[in-house]
This record gives sequence, structure tokens and C-alpha cells, in this order.
Amino acid sequence: MSSAHRFDRGHTDDLMTFLAASPSPYHAVANTAERLEKAGFRQVAETDAWDAQAGGKYVTRGGAIIAWYVPEGATAATPFRIIGAHTDSPNLRVKPLPDTGTHGWQQVAVELYGGTLLNTWLDRDLGLSGRVTLRDGSDHLVNIDRPLLRVPQLAVHLDRTVNQDGVKLDKQRHMTPIWGLGHVTEGDLIRFVAEEAGLEAGQISGWDLMTHSVEAPAYLGRDHELLAGPRMDNLLSVHAGLAALTTAIGSEGLPYIPVLAAFDHEENGSQSDTGAEGPLLGNVLERSVFARGGSYEDKARAFAGTICLSSDTGHAVHPNYAERHEPGHHPMPNGGPLLKVNVNQRYATDGSGRAVFAAACERAGVPMQHFVSNNSVPCGTTIGPITAARHGISTVDIGVAILSMHSARELCGADDPYLLAAALTAFLEG
Ligand code: ZN
Repeated sequence: MSSAHRFDRGHTDDLMTFLAASPSPYHAVANTAERLEKAGFRQVAETDAWDAQAGGKYVTRGGAIIAWYVPEGATAATPFRIIGAHTDSPNLRVKPLPDTGTHGWQQVAVELYGGTLLNTWLDRDLGLSGRVTLRDGSDHLVNIDRPLLRVPQLAVHLDRTVNQDGVKLDKQRHMTPIWGLGHVTEGDLIRFVAEEAGLEAGQISGWDLMTHSVEAPAYLGRDHELLAGPRMDNLLSVHAGLAALTTAIGSEGLPYIPVLAAFDHEENGSQSDTGAEGPLLGNVLERSVFARGGSYEDKARAFAGTICLSSDTGHAVHPNYAERHEPGHHPMPNGGPLLKVNVNQRYATDGSGRAVFAAACERAGVPMQHFVSNNSVPCGTTIGPITAARHGISTVDIGVAILSMHSARELCGADDPYLLAAALTAFLEG
């Protein structure tokens, strides 16, 4: 049976642009900031004194960005409605002394970031992106978005049992990309990066560089009902949250202060100054209360009335491995946003959180699906439980059902990004 597109694909087309333009968390932050500026938000520095002015503001710090909108008439005790997400994705990141190689090959030494699905990085055309820091302390974004590197898989003739035994990859020996032929020279990669970025190599004194697949996101399937692309975990949520925030601020009499909090370092546990475990979100919310003349009491009242939707990807039922899923809970692409439950607090959702999200989906006219793990398969986690525990904020884990999570190229339903954004908008509008 062929299913007609239920929705205008404008949102998904825009997501594809956002994904392709955001190969690193730093690019995701820059692109988010650019879109916020277009919507009338203004950047505030953490080092400045903040004022009580209403309107949209945002703070950036490395791979994290927090944006919020103070409606006219908000008091110091007005609660927040937060959409939480993360900007980072598993990938291969450049080591401090990157120039390596052997037997006439030039290679780049890489560290594995997050829970990378290693085999998906084999035989892909990879670009290089991230940021470089100059001697004067300024950061510059770099994006070499062309086939530059490759982790070549061993030919089947030299690995005769690979299709019986599976691909076995040693993280240190087998994941080193090649990027040229010839002698290895110290400083070569950073000189190359400097040249590509129009900088003097001698100016660069620090870098955070990583690989990305240069293949563009694409619609897939007989009716183009699926979307294939990189970093949907979790730029899909960052993009949907951004769309929701910039839409919600247009509605009259917002009863809450809508917030988008996109953190770095979720894929390795969130413990950093830009991760959800750090003080960034709490600091921003507190300073916003105090800037509006609030007291500690106002802050406590605002936080007690605050709800966070932690939005991240979840697992759609895999047709070839259905037994790995909970038999009674089989989320499908294009079935609408997921409510994610784990009673052991790998997800922060409880019954009252379910009611909040169900109400938002209902107001948006969007269907809701349920995710819970098979008891024999350990459950992943998100920034949800961390946000709840760190700030004492009531939190609900939700998201979008995808296949191939943590692959270099993931797969989701082409309608789901829009459905998620619609539900998030209804949530922010209260
Ligand atoms: Zn994620």
C-alpha cells in the first residue's frame, strides 16, 4: 500500500539543510544562533551583566547553546518550559599528534567519540570539520566538506570468514583513516587545515576536529516516506526545538518562558562545562530570574513550576531484528513522536510527564507512540534524568523513532521531524 505524504515537506527539507550544514557541534550551534538572530533573538555574553528586558536571548558556549524568550508581563517567578537536546554525535575525532601512516600511506590518528557504530564508518567518503583556536584565543569554524579521508575495509579475499564471523574491528588498529600517499610529516594535517580555512598554520594553537560523511541527506523509499542522513541523533531534535521556539514566540500571552537547551557531550555522559551535567542551564535560568529582579524564593517557585521535554532519538522496530524490541511496543516511522519510558530512570518520564506530553500532542493534532525496552536488552539514556536530578526540574523523555542509531547515516520517517516540531510547539505554548 502506498501512503501519500500527509504533510508539506518544507520542515524536513529545512532539516536536511541544517544537518548538512552542521557536521560538528560547533557548526550546529552557529547555525542555531544564525536562525535565532533571524527570529529576533540577541546573543548575551556570560561575562556581561544581564538586564530585565523582555524578548529572545541566547548564550553559546562551545558546542552548547541555550535560548529563551521572556514574554511581556513575565514575572520573576514565571516558570520555564524547556526543550532539551544535544548537538553532538558519535564520530572519529583527530588526536593531538594527528600525522601518522605506514607503508607509503598518509593517515590521520583518530580517537573514537561516543558509542560509534564502527562498521558504518568503513568505506565512506569523509570530510573534516570543527573549530580551530588561534594564538589570540579566537575560535574559527572549519568545514572541509569534500571527500578527504576514508577508513578502508579489508577486502573479502584477505578476510575470508568475514561474512560468517562478522566484521571484527580493533578500535586502535583498524579505524585509522587514510588521507593521502607519501611520507608522513609532522604538522602536515594542521597546515593543510589552515590552508583550507585561509589561516596561517602558525596562528593555530588548538583544534577540535572531527570526521563526517560528505554524503548529503536524502529522501528514501518507494514514496520518499523515509529520510536518510547523518547526525539525526540528535540534530533532528535541536532543529525541531528551534522551529518550535521560533514559532511559539509568535503566540499571544505565553504563560511560560520557552527555552531551548542544546548541550554538547551527551554521547559520552554529559560531564563537561557544556554538557547537561554541568551548571550551564541552571546558571542561565537562575540569572534570567535574578535579572528580572527575582529572589531565591522566586527562583525556587519558577523551577518548581518548570517542565523539561528531553527530546532525543529512540528505536523504531527493526524488521530484521524485531525480537530485540519489546513485543507490545513497536514504534514506527511516521507514527508520531515517541514517549520514552524506563522505570529505572534511564528515561525521566513518569505518569504525570506522560500526561503533559499527551496533552501537547493532542493540542497539536499529532499521534503519540510509546517506547519501552525489552527487559533483556539494556536501555540507553539521555540528558533527561540528568536534567531532572541536576536542577530538580520535572522532565519527560520523548523523541523520534529511527533505525541505525549511531550509524554514520541514520534513517527516520520523513514526516516525524514535522510531527515532533508541532508537538514541541504546543508544549511551549502551554
Ligand atoms: Zn542522542
